[in-house]
Amino acid sequence: MSGFEGAVAVVTGGASGIGAACVERFRSLGAGVVVADLVVSDGDQPQVDVTDEESCRQLADHVRDRFGRLDHLVLAAGTILDGPAPLMESSLEGWHHVLDVNLNGLLVSTRELVPIMVDGGTITVITSGEYQHATVNNGAYCVAKAGAWMLTKMLALELAPRSIRVNAVAPGFIETPMTAPFLAGPGRRDKLVDLTPVKRVGTPDDVAAAVTYLAGSDASFVTGTTLWVDGGIAVNER
Ligand code: NAD
Repeated sequence: MSGFEGAVAVVTGGASGIGAACVERFRSLGAGVVVADLVVSDGDQPQVDVTDEESCRQLADHVRDRFGRLDHLVLAAGTILDGPAPLMESSLEGWHHVLDVNLNGLLVSTRELVPIMVDGGTITVITSGEYQHATVNNGAYCVAKAGAWMLTKMLALELAPRSIRVNAVAPGFIETPMTAPFLAGPGRRDKLVDLTPVKRVGTPDDVAAAVTYLAGSDASFVTGTTLWVDGGIAVNER
């Protein structure tokens, strides 16, 4: 597969996990890629906080100066609460932080980057199966991801006149630094695999493959939708 030669992609959250796999995929398919993350993984890349307008403005300036165009935006920056807790017992500070990164950050970064995006570009939002399914002790995250799904649909409508397609990928359980502490718990991996129809835990590249499909010309009639990448667990578990 090719089709990304000469194209430029920005991947928020690109220093780790799913975002890093998207960076690798786009690079291997010939695109120039800018990693936009709080963590600077490459000295040539700016440090970016997706919740901060000025930081995202500087990111847009960097992409414009370095490449002069933007074709694909992948919004993979995300976070979870350190200590899962019921909504009635969790801090408002934690609520604001999770909403800020997982939801507000999507809009803040998109607003700064869309003006430099070419007509016909794509935006892919990494949501989660939890955009649709409520998970105990994970309220802020579920609410943020539900909002991310509606934002995806709104952007698909509003950017359609520029032929910019906007879709979401909803991963199930993917092995990344975010999920490593959970998976390390006794018996959890086996239980998860047992619940998953394809009988394995997902990899970041499973998600990246869906992202490059949605960004590519094979998906030219696809916008405003969600592609689940979860090994079928949503079908089995709920
Ligand atoms: P990860 O922790 O490995 O990577 C998240 C990245 O986001 C990190 O590099 C982090 O530095 C960056 N980030 C956090 N806050 C930021 C900010 N304010 N500005 C810029 N960058 C910021 O996590 P992951 O598992 O790769 O998750 C990637 C995305 O996928 C997230 O949106 C997450 O909610 C979603 N997701 C993950 C899973 C899973 O099972 N791993 C499942 C469903 C959805």
